[in-house]
Amino acid sequence: MISNNLWVCYEMSINFRVEWQAHSLSNAGSNGSNRLLPRRQLLADGTETDACSGNIAKHHHAVLLAEHFEAVSIPLCPACRNRDGRRAAALINLTDYKELTIERILKECGLCDAHGFLVTSKNAASDGSTETRQRLSKHSLVEFSYALALPGHHTETTQIATRNGSSKEDGQMIMKMPSRSGQYSRCVRYRSVGIGVDTDKWKLVVNDEEKRILRHQAILRTLMDSVLSPEGALTATMLPHLTGLNGAIVIRTTPGRAAIYSALEPDFITLLVSLEDDTCRVFPFTTITEFSNAMKELIKHSIPALPSQNHLGANKVSPTKID
Ligand SMILES: [Zn+2]
Repeated sequence: MISNNLWVCYEMSINFRVEWQAHSLSNAGSNGSNRLLPRRQLLADGTETDACSGNIAKHHHAVLLAEHFEAVSIPLCPACRNRDGRRAAALINLTDYKELTIERILKECGLCDAHGFLVTSKNAASDGSTETRQRLSKHSLVEFSYALALPGHHTETTQIATRNGSSKEDGQMIMKMPSRSGQYSRCVRYRSVGIGVDTDKWKLVVNDEEKRILRHQAILRTLMDSVLSPEGALTATMLPHLTGLNGAIVIRTTPGRAAIYSALEPDFITLLVSLEDDTCRVFPFTTITEFSNAMKELIKHSIPALPSQNHLGANKVSPTKID
């Protein structure tokens, strides 16, 4: 386990296998007869397997992260305060935000900083009615893979549901609703070095270390919550049963990448653990308790690294273990 010392986290990944029973977390629309179409993915060998999109996981992470940020007084921009998924792109029509800069967005909004945004560029209108707008963007610091069911370890049951029409004459509508169960592999990557950083220009914008640590802790807490309490589509009546969790958290402590290896492979935990060295910490887990304990230790003892060119100037945090 992590000691009482603080650890610098440059980047981390969570590679895990999760078992959900009777869910419909991610669907691919309907075919016109009210039947939901479960999302599917072909694997490299042509096997078709059940899947849940990363988009839905990212959306729910962002929604919960906003709540965690507000709880610890991390500022949000007006768009994120209103849970507008466009984030900074929704600010351009506000009179207070005519002079929008990346510095202002990153300083004034933890969610735009963590989940990214895109303000498109625009040329000035020839009649002078609109001014030129510069492109501003930041890539998300948290990235989610598809959840892919292990071949041979997923099933689907078609449930018949009825819905009453608005009047007696409408009668009852018969609907087919599939519910699925399976063991899914998912990877999450979180680039903590990018907190408060203009990642295009690789420039530190939020140079208050305490504020960066608060954002980092909220991102980790939200990741922990979203693994332990699955969110997605149709949870109002098909809240999944979480019945198993195992995997490995990989922390890269120096500039570089945290390795990702899929839980589709049976020996993924052993192989990830074998990567451990002075720059790479690995925390395997086989239960929800071990996962939760590892995440709590990280929340307590890890701090986000600084971009390399800022190590000497901005503050005293070194890129390696500190006492
Ligand atoms: Zn925002």
